[in-house]
Amino acid sequence: MEKKRLVILGGGESGAGTALLAQAKGYDVFVSDFGNIKEQYKDMLRLHSIAFEDGGHSEALVLNADEVMKSPGIPDDAPIVAKIIAKRIPIVSEIEFAARFTNAKMVCITGSNGKTTTTSLVFHILQQAKLNVGLAGNIGRSLALQILEDPKDYYVIELSSFQLDNMYSFRADIAVLMNITPDHLDRYNFEMQRYVDSKMRIMQNQRPEDYFIYWAQDEHIPAEIKKRRHHIAPATTPSSQPEREGHPTLVPFCDKDFEQLGLSFSQIGVHNKRNALAAYLAAKSLGVDEQIIRQSLVTFPGVEHRLERVAVKDGVTYINDSKATNVDACYVAMQAVDAPVVLIVGGKDKGNDYTVLHDIVSRKCRALVYLGADNGKLHQAFDSLGLPVADTHSMAECVKACHALAKEGDTVLLSPCCASFDLFHNMEDRGEQFKQRVAELTPRT
Ligand code: ADP
Repeated sequence: MEKKRLVILGGGESGAGTALLAQAKGYDVFVSDFGNIKEQYKDMLRLHSIAFEDGGHSEALVLNADEVMKSPGIPDDAPIVAKIIAKRIPIVSEIEFAARFTNAKMVCITGSNGKTTTTSLVFHILQQAKLNVGLAGNIGRSLALQILEDPKDYYVIELSSFQLDNMYSFRADIAVLMNITPDHLDRYNFEMQRYVDSKMRIMQNQRPEDYFIYWAQDEHIPAEIKKRRHHIAPATTPSSQPEREGHPTLVPFCDKDFEQLGLSFSQIGVHNKRNALAAYLAAKSLGVDEQIIRQSLVTFPGVEHRLERVAVKDGVTYINDSKATNVDACYVAMQAVDAPVVLIVGGKDKGNDYTVLHDIVSRKCRALVYLGADNGKLHQAFDSLGLPVADTHSMAECVKACHALAKEGDTVLLSPCCASFDLFHNMEDRGEQFKQRVAELTPRT
């Protein structure tokens, strides 16, 4: 029988991992990347004699695929993708492809915010419970590679909407949907419903023995569930018995459940209570011992660049929340930290509406520090609040301005609402530079 040809677009972690798994499973594999493939991945491909190209796509070698695995970063309107779609070649995500080759239990987490924290927390709990568990999706190593080289009984997978878009037969044993707020709308034709539908795909294919855990106070999720009611069961509460008649068990949770269940969590803020609840319920659904779950919530070390306490200098607490790349994430960070706050905002704006921040900024901020290549929109959005403002264009200038504006007892919060690409390589770079500059601050005399 002739081998099936799998073409992989994007030679990063997920692309290289998929290539190795596909080859081991008997596919004819070709990897094509429009940009540069990192040396480490080139070496992996060479070692396994897998054909690849970078710096452009050879149409003849791509459009003869039986199936395409597309890295989630590549948009549907990229010319090569449009051609693949026009030729009706099926496009799948790494997770869809890799899951065909495992019977492990899949715990999948999505949402506009809180994915990485919740995914890391579920992973931490399952590790503490001594389960044979892997971490995959947007974080950790490629799922495909883990399935090939180090198969696990459980995978905890962070899923973005872009991954969900190319998932069809995949089934999550436990699906967790944290929240849905506007994000990445540029990839969804600026139609919120399309983004919402993408997130709801996490529950497709779920069966009676599966669980769907979600935040019941979200603006969209309960209504979306109602729409899909014909194929899912009525809601239960965290404490009630699972509904097992023909549909997945719905497990909604509300903020107040945190206190009602008497939980404690190592991380601050109401949003983190939601993350803790989601992880608690996911672990409960897997039958993990209650005491182990509760202890793990307390011992969870947190995730870098998410409300990370950096230092206290001259009585001022510096917090790195560089990961807050949308307005909603900044809002919850502002709720979590102690006032008065010197807030650092700015970067590459993704069509933000800052008015939702006006009230909390007026109430809690001592000053604002704008940090971006172009701060024009920030001036328009915030100057009218009458707070002291500093206009900066590098992290060095920014931290200097914060140091000058903050008084003893204040919090300096980097929670920029924006992507980082205008001044930094990525949000990690922005967070690292912030920490570096804070470490270099000399105490006031
Ligand atoms: P994601 O992986 O979805 O981007 P993270 O766990 O990395 O989420 O958190 C990113 C930022 O989003 C955090 O710094 C915090 O400000 C905010 N955030 C985290 N959890 C939640 C939540 N449950 N609801 C709203 N915002 C959240």
